[in-house]
Amino acid sequence: MLNQTGIPTLEQVLSRFPERKELVKAKAIIECYEDIPCNPCETSCPVNAIYIGKNINKQPVLDVEKCIGCGFCVEACPGLAIILAQIKAEKALFTIPYEFRPLPTKGEIWFGVDRSGKVICEVKIKRVVLAKRQDHTAVVTVSVPAEYLYQFITIRVKQNE
Ligand code: SF4
Ligand code: SF4
Repeated sequence: MLNQTGIPTLEQVLSRFPERKELVKAKAIIECYEDIPCNPCETSCPVNAIYIGKNINKQPVLDVEKCIGCGFCVEACPGLAIILAQIKAEKALFTIPYEFRPLPTKGEIWFGVDRSGKVICEVKIKRVVLAKRQDHTAVVTVSVPAEYLYQFITIRVKQNE
């Protein structure tokens, strides 16, 4: 599926999520499915929670217990392949990399989009961070209905629909 459409299967997606009980705290979800020579995720992690090793063609492996949900890997990944996920009450909080413009503003309602590009729900923008070190990749935190935990991947501005 991934090879043909660029869209991972639900099984692939689930393989990157920890058990739900781990998501009481924010954890990195690393959707890097191919062997490519790349390792900024590993080198950016302050607590060594991501392991690739000497052969940087290997796919990254997350140590969920070590991950403190800081988000450094989210902004460091050139493939925009890492998000943070957390479950809080009836909501899933996601922190995603976002490179389109305009950027959202805290408090706005945007659309939530799945991995096929389909709008699936409305989401609330909770936080937008764009520091100089991020090189135009903003990091946006959004609140999403928890039922879309395994479907949501990004946002789309509502005015375009
Ligand atoms: S969120 Fe922070 S602690 Fe977790 S893997 Fe990414 S860089 Fe490491
Ligand atoms: S930085 Fe991103 S693309 Fe590169 S290995 Fe890590 S997760 Fe994959």
